[in-house]
Amino acid sequence: MKFLRNLPKEKIFGKTCLLRVDLNIAEKEAKNSPRILGILPTIKFLIKNGAKVILLGHRGRPNGFDKKQSLKPFVKILSNLLNKKIYFIDFDKNLNFTNGKDKDRKKNVATASSSIFLLENLRFLRGELKNDLKLAKQLSSFGDFYVNDAFSGSHRANVSVSAITKFLPSYAGFLMEKEIKNLSIIMKNPKKPLTIILGGAKISSKLGLINNFMSKADYFLIGGGIANTFFAAQNLPIGDSINEKSMEKEAGKLFKNNLPIGQAGLSAGRAGNIILPIDVVISKRKILDIGQNTINLYSQIIKKSKTIIWNGPMGYFEDKKFAKGSQGIARAILKSRAFAVVGGGETASLFKLQTADYKLRTNIFISTGGGAMLEYLAGKKLPGIEVLQ
Ligand code: ADP
Ligand code: MG
Repeated sequence: MKFLRNLPKEKIFGKTCLLRVDLNIAEKEAKNSPRILGILPTIKFLIKNGAKVILLGHRGRPNGFDKKQSLKPFVKILSNLLNKKIYFIDFDKNLNFTNGKDKDRKKNVATASSSIFLLENLRFLRGELKNDLKLAKQLSSFGDFYVNDAFSGSHRANVSVSAITKFLPSYAGFLMEKEIKNLSIIMKNPKKPLTIILGGAKISSKLGLINNFMSKADYFLIGGGIANTFFAAQNLPIGDSINEKSMEKEAGKLFKNNLPIGQAGLSAGRAGNIILPIDVVISKRKILDIGQNTINLYSQIIKKSKTIIWNGPMGYFEDKKFAKGSQGIARAILKSRAFAVVGGGETASLFKLQTADYKLRTNIFISTGGGAMLEYLAGKKLPGIEVLQ
């Protein structure tokens, strides 16, 4: 993989870098978001070495131009964090820069030095999601080289992570590098026992990871809505709990294939390396958290693990009453000596909240990737990463 870290300084000085970042974040969370804080070192490095930086990003799934999904609010957020002026670049549907009276922003970009520009939401342009070569070529004409620091957006083959690399020398930024280095430890030779903790809303998004690690993981500790799907697959009552009905068959198969020979059904909530909650917290006909016995059981397993992956909360943690399970898991990970990767939008922010002193630990990595992390750990090739090889 080609890393920005290894790029000679003379190839940076006086050049313009198109830097892909992930700004697909709620505004009010932005200044504390690992996705935003994570890109600052790359921006600072580029500026310090005399490059101009044009930030590329997207927000939401707009249908054409939509002011509500503008990236403009990030000008203030980023300039506060960097203590530096950031110029916003608006464009029309042909990617001609249009900033009010000043129609010729392109010229400005070309003449300013060591400056930072933020380009409007690229998804306003039809070609972005289609990985359109024409758009890629046009976009590439604004820079001399390209850096991808948006690991969390690299599972989609869009112009700003994929096609653009056909036209410019392309490198992985510091955040991307960190993600790849940590996640590849898990992929290549994780120390055993390897424990994978899975919760959250939907099993479908995590199936790839489960399959990829089925023969490698010592334990899958299941919680959240996913556990409900495993329960329902065995005809256990789940009341009105969240459940992905269409996945019951698949979950049932996973569980059954894993049962030791001769064992017919659920036995202490366990089939081979798949472990289900042994007690749950119920309110108004809904399973909303794992119970205390499950927290204890999972914590014991976490304690003896050498490698841990955690994705997906153990319950409806947004309500404090049902956050105990997720809190318990966060604490157990914090106490363990394992190398741990924690990822997923909700999981990462929850983990940080619960473990404010996590910075003291170097063996816990909080991934900025949600879907991208899951796809990477499922063994899929990510379009935005392939092109940097
Ligand atoms: P992440 O963003 O970390 O990948 P997901 O998006 O998969 O996690 O799922 C997070 C959501 O799952 C949270 O909003 C949480 O409230 C919800 N959730 C987890 N368990 C339950 C449950 N038992 N009942 C209702 N919601 C749940
Ligand atoms: Mg989520």
